[in-house]
Amino acid sequence: MLEFTEEQRLIRSEIENLCADFEDEYWREKDRNAEYPMDFVQTLGDHGWLGTVIPEEYGGAGLDTLEASIILEEIVASGAGFNGSMACHGAMFIPRSLINYGSEEMKEEYLPKVASGEELMQCFALTEPNAGFDSTAITTRAEKEGDHYVINGQKTWCSRLHASDYMVLVARTTPKEEVDKKTDGMSLFLVDINDAKAQDAIDADEIEKNIRAAVPSYEVWFEDLEVPAENLIGEEGRGFHQVMDGLNEERVVIAAEAVGLARRRIRRRTGGVRPPDRVESGDSTPPRRSVRPDDQRSEHHVPGRQSVQRGQRRRRGGERLRLHGSRGGLGGDGRRRPDARRLRRRDGVRRRTLLP
Ligand SMILES: Cc1cc2nc3c(=O)[nH]c(=O)nc-3n(C[C@H](O)[C@H](O)[C@H](O)COP(=O)(O)OP(=O)(O)OC[C@H]3O[C@@H](n4cnc5c(N)ncnc54)[C@H](O)[C@@H]3O)c2cc1C
Repeated sequence: MLEFTEEQRLIRSEIENLCADFEDEYWREKDRNAEYPMDFVQTLGDHGWLGTVIPEEYGGAGLDTLEASIILEEIVASGAGFNGSMACHGAMFIPRSLINYGSEEMKEEYLPKVASGEELMQCFALTEPNAGFDSTAITTRAEKEGDHYVINGQKTWCSRLHASDYMVLVARTTPKEEVDKKTDGMSLFLVDINDAKAQDAIDADEIEKNIRAAVPSYEVWFEDLEVPAENLIGEEGRGFHQVMDGLNEERVVIAAEAVGLARRRIRRRTGGVRPPDRVESGDSTPPRRSVRPDDQRSEHHVPGRQSVQRGQRRRRGGERLRLHGSRGGLGGDGRRRPDARRLRRRDGVRRRTLLP
């Protein structure tokens, strides 16, 4: 039997409290108007949750994939659905390559701003019109010229471009035909989106889609985009291997989000409440049947939930965290307010303390 630590249970209840301020009508309106839930994302940022996986020395909460999964599962289960989780889940895996492979200078410059929510690193550009599952087929090129790289090419399905300050871009520094292994010759770059706009070297078109309307995805073109050489993340040519850390993390958090959706569904069913519409899936088909006895089970008994959690633990790979002396911070209305920044480690032991 898998058990959560006290700290993980606390994180779950804190996210539940935070999401309670964003009710069903808020999400319905965002979906209906195809409007990005910036105030929700900003609220997560204000409470430090966008820095969940960023190490504490760079201002983050220093948590890991399991806690990120708990947060995203809870966001979806609150009724926010995939509009809620996808609005912010980039923050849980896109900074990963920078954390694991970035230079110390890069980490010090960018991670604190991202951890505080002051700037957003929520855009990831890998997929191309002819490179989907086979990522090694990308043709977007980055050529080194002196102290910078010049990037040309096209990406597709770049989500949250409009709501990001930084993009992690995967480009070929050596064409596929010239490498021994097709996974070689790809590199990661941190692109400052505002700088790319100022250079007039980026163009984008929103992709029309019929689900998850509040979180747009874009077709993106780069023409002679100059990126400083120091924005290369990790080692040139090793980008495929480096990006896998983040992509594997994304797979795990998306599985947790699906569990959250199932919990939401069961909660609706066991409450006997007819959903006004299915914001979570974007499917407006009315429910086919009323509550049946076999729906009268706990929303926490979602089939597959334990195997998702086992996967999250395996990804963690490190120490099991312990919590000592938890205290809840109170908001002006007396309700406990969540705040990742109150999770701090002392003497190797994680404690939850109030911010000064
Ligand atoms: C809403 C949304 C948001 C997204 N956001 C982002 C983002 O922010 N950044 C980003 O980079 N990408 C993003 N993506 C892209 C996503 O990661 C790709 O859709 C995914 O990588 C698959 O690529 P594809 O759609 O081109 O499918 P394809 O590669 O065309 O594959 C289609 C199907 O064919 C199968 N298939 C493919 N090749 C083979 C083969 N050789 N043998 C057998 N079967 C095969 C696949 O399993 C799949 O079922 C997003 C996609 C969506 C839909």
